[in-house]
Amino acid sequence: MLRRAPTYAGPTPVIHPENEQFWTSLAAGRLELQRCTACSRVRFPVAPVCYECGSLDYSWKEVVGNGNVAVAIRVERATGDPVWASQVPFISGLIDIAPGLRLPGRIFCNCGEVLTRGTAVAGSYQPGDGFGVLCFTHDCAD
Ligand SMILES: [Zn+2]
Repeated sequence: MLRRAPTYAGPTPVIHPENEQFWTSLAAGRLELQRCTACSRVRFPVAPVCYECGSLDYSWKEVVGNGNVAVAIRVERATGDPVWASQVPFISGLIDIAPGLRLPGRIFCNCGEVLTRGTAVAGSYQPGDGFGVLCFTHDCAD
């Protein structure tokens, strides 16, 4: 199970039959990714074909979601959808979950330590309306 983070307030993701399992599993507090039936590669982003072996066959696999910061930035100015104006500043980054598996997401951290590469974070989710959004949380020292 992922940790629950604050309720999601951003734009609604584009959900279609191919990626619906990803979004609905997050709504239930789980991270499920495609696992290639032919070569066992766990992949992200969701795709119709395995980028390792080209197979079209896959199943969904629950992934713990804890990892370490590969890169993180503090977003100071909102761009794109106007809803982000109420969210800044926030931290966003890429998290290494396993070798070859790097996932994007907002990182909830009050101390700023996650801006340092390698910092451990916990897989988390923001509940939305019928979906969830992957994010990460840091156990701040304060
Ligand atoms: Zn494959």
